Parts: sequence; C-alpha cells; structure tokens
Amino acid sequence: MTCTALPTIYWSGRKALTFVRAFALGALLLLLPALALAAGGEDEALRAAGLVDPTQLDQTLVLDMRYATTNNFTGKQVYPSARCYLRQDIAARLVKVQQALRSKGLGLKVYDCYRPFSVQEQFWRIMPDNRYVLEPVRKDGVILKSSRHNCGAAVDVTLVDAKGRELPMPTEFDDFTDKAHRDSTKASPEARKNSRLLEAAMVAQGFDPLPTEWWHFDGPGWKNYPPLDLPLPQGN
Ligand SMILES: [Zn+2]
Repeated sequence: MTCTALPTIYWSGRKALTFVRAFALGALLLLLPALALAAGGEDEALRAAGLVDPTQLDQTLVLDMRYATTNNFTGKQVYPSARCYLRQDIAARLVKVQQALRSKGLGLKVYDCYRPFSVQEQFWRIMPDNRYVLEPVRKDGVILKSSRHNCGAAVDVTLVDAKGRELPMPTEFDDFTDKAHRDSTKASPEARKNSRLLEAAMVAQGFDPLPTEWWHFDGPGWKNYPPLDLPLPQGN
C-alpha cells in the first residue's frame, strides 16, 4: 500500500544538463503548490500538484465524503470540507465509469478520494491497528509509507440508482470484517451481484479492485504518483 517515490535521477557527467533541467523542473513542480498554499488557496495548490475535482467534470457524481462527517470509523470529522480530488487521469477515468453506469440507469456515490498524509497519521493515532488502518511512516520529513489515497490515486465508491439511492452492498462502507472481502459469500446474492457490477464497471476503465474492501479501487498508474500532504480546502 505504498505509493512509490518520485523517480530517482542518476548523476553522470554526460547527463549533467539533463539532471539540472530535471532538478529545476522538479523544484518548480514542488514550488507551485507551496506558493498557491501560501496565498491561501488550497484548491489552487491541489490543482498545481495535478489533482482535479471530478464533480467539476461530471456533476452527476454523488458525493458522500464520510471523513467530512462524523459518520465514519473514527466517529470524528477529519476533513474540513466534503471535497473530492483525484489525479487528473484517474478523475477522467472515473467520469467514464459514471457515463457507462448512467446508460444503465445507475451511478457512482463517492466516499473518499485524495486523503492528506497528515490525516493518515491522524487515523493511525485514533486506531493504531494494521488490520484497519495502513500505518503511515514519515522520517525526517520524508514520507516513506503511505496509502494510495494519500497519492490521490485511490477512490472509495458505491453504486446508486437513478434517484441517487444506494444499492445494497455486502457491508457498510469501512466495515473492516471479512464480509467486505470480494470473495466473501456471507452477503446476500443481490448485494454480491451489485458489488460485482461495480467492480466490472471500474475494471473496464483500468481501476484495480482491493480484495479486502468492496468499495476501494486503485486508479490506473497509481505507482506513478507520489504521496502528498496538501490540505483540503476549508468549507465547501
Ligand atoms: Zn479506500
């Protein structure tokens, strides 16, 4: 569950110029979100880092950002706003899933998207149990181990009907029992069928389903994105 770090740039005499250019580009990419954040623009900082809000690409996506409410496993509101951000390509793929589902009278409801790394650390302080929360590791300011949500490369979703009502699924969101596993036979046939339908729609656009959580999908190319600790915007 660790997103890889930025690609290593190897030094050699002949590649010195390439290195300098890459370093300058890297520094600029790191600097842009910091500048936007310093100006009080969390949204701008997230966009400068390559994240977009998929509901601005398709307004039919239903949001139920659970960590912006107390209706989550921590019982606390840990996000300042109910905003979804994903890597640009992954957001575009999610919109394609939504379009395919709409042709069947269905749609997606989104529970979680990009999660700042410091929130992962907060989760760990609340529940330091590897069965429920991925343990984040940061050493000397460098993020060494993170959730794919911290990379803006994972999304938690369920299915809704044309009126936005949730379809029955094997468990509630963030149910950490084995009933939530994709190969579990404990849920009703209808719930399992819905879970498979969601999975097929996501896989068709390149998403990778997590075996232990029916709602969690890693976006295509998730390994290419580094973890971030940019805050979500204040208010909605
Ligand atoms: Zn997830």
